[in-house]
Order: sequence, then structure tokens, then C-alpha cells
Amino acid sequence: MRVARFSSGGDPQYGLVELARDGGEHPDTVAVLNGDPLAMPVQLTGERVALDSVRLLAPVIPRSKVVCVGRNYAAHIEELGNEVPDRPLLFFKPNTAVIGPEDPIVWPTAAEEISFEGELAIVIGRICKEVPVDQVQDVIFGYTIANDITARDWQRTDKQWARAKGFDTSCPLGPWITSHYTVEEASDLMITTTVDGEQRQHGSTALMLNKLPDLVSYISAFTTLLPGDVILTGTPAGVGLLTPGQQISVTIEGMGTLTNTIIKPADAEGTK
Ligand code: ZN
Repeated sequence: MRVARFSSGGDPQYGLVELARDGGEHPDTVAVLNGDPLAMPVQLTGERVALDSVRLLAPVIPRSKVVCVGRNYAAHIEELGNEVPDRPLLFFKPNTAVIGPEDPIVWPTAAEEISFEGELAIVIGRICKEVPVDQVQDVIFGYTIANDITARDWQRTDKQWARAKGFDTSCPLGPWITSHYTVEEASDLMITTTVDGEQRQHGSTALMLNKLPDLVSYISAFTTLLPGDVILTGTPAGVGLLTPGQQISVTIEGMGTLTNTIIKPADAEGTK
């Protein structure tokens, strides 16, 4: 399943995305659901809308937290001149940082260097604590694409990364949640990031230093995970700085493309 959260002008709704390229009978459509599939079993209303007639929203607003893993790909650690951490390096983003596909990333006032980081994100499906590595599959609802937008200058100057990686709009998620991959399948998917159409990142999730089951187990050992919590699993090599107006697209094999444009605060006025 591909679970989208969308708006047709009114309140957010949920639906299953059906892509024509998968052999569906219709052009790309969204089969509308009753309620939130993270909170209740999937129940179709019978209504269908064209995918291009709706506005896709962030597929999930994390109920309690976005947990992020830093420095989880060797080539990315090397490009920034950092050390390989002894254990997973974790930080949080607040749920107020989350935006959806096509939403603007708003350059934080006073930050000078903003970078993109294309990442695979895990969406948790069940309340869980201390999940054994071999049971991680049971607590995962699905996967989505994330862009871990980072203020590099703040990351250097602040001891904590709350500001550098937690500012408003620093966590684009989307375009939907892909729920049909097993943990094994999600552990070998190509992540490709382009900036204004030019390829900047191209690395497989197979290159992660800490693998998906180990990450979920390690994180759930210290904090309770709730349905709708999101885990960002780190970025492959190729990160770089952005300038206002640039368009960043992150594609993960079989999961679609998440596209956002970064704008200066002045350009964001009036969009609130
Ligand atoms: Zn990251």
C-alpha cells in the first residue's frame, strides 16, 4: 500500500495511492479511506479522486517525535571530516519541523549555511518499547522519504543540534507512506537527491553502518515509540549547501519523489 494524507480543500483525509504504472485500471488515483490508518484498520469509503486533483500533505504528523540518526553512512562521515561514532548518534526533530511535499522550506533567519540530506524514514505503527532486533518488522507501519534540512553553521557553533536540525520546515516528509516493503527490502534501496535537476546524492540504504532493525531496537531501548513516530536513518554521501530558490528532490526506489523548494523568509510572508 501507498498511504497518502491529502486535502481536497477541506480537512486532511487519508487514502491509498493507486499508480497507473502498477497496472491499475485508472490513471493515478487516491482511494479515500475512513479515518487515519495509523489509528484504525484500513477501511475504504468507495470514493476515488484523481491524484493530481488533490494536495498531498505530510503523510504523517509524528504523534510524539522524529528520532534522527546522524553519521550512519561512512562516505558521508568522511565528506564532512567527522569520526565514525561508536554507537548510533541520535537527535530529535520536533513535530513542528514537519512539512509535506511541495511545501516551502523556509530559510531560518540568521542561519548562513543550509544543507539538504536525503534519507529513508521509518514510520512506526505500534506502541512499542525494547523491541528485539528480530521483531522490528512487527512495529513498522511503512517507510517514507525525508529531507533532513540542516543549518551547518549552527551545527558547528551549537553543542546541541536542536536549532541546527529542528527549526520550522526542517523536516520535509512524503510523498506518501510505502507499507509493502519488508525490513530486508527497505535495507537495499537507492536514494537519489537532485538540486535543480542535478544529481547530488546516489547511495543505497545497504550502505548504512547501523542497519534498520538495529536502529529501531536501539532507539526503543531508551524511549517508547508511538504509532506515527518517525525515524530518519541518516544520509548517504553528496550533501551540499543550498541557495534560496533551489528545488530539492529526493527519490527512493519504488517510493516516489519528495520535492521542496527553499525560500527566504521574506518570500514566505503571506503564505501563513
Ligand atoms: Zn541526517
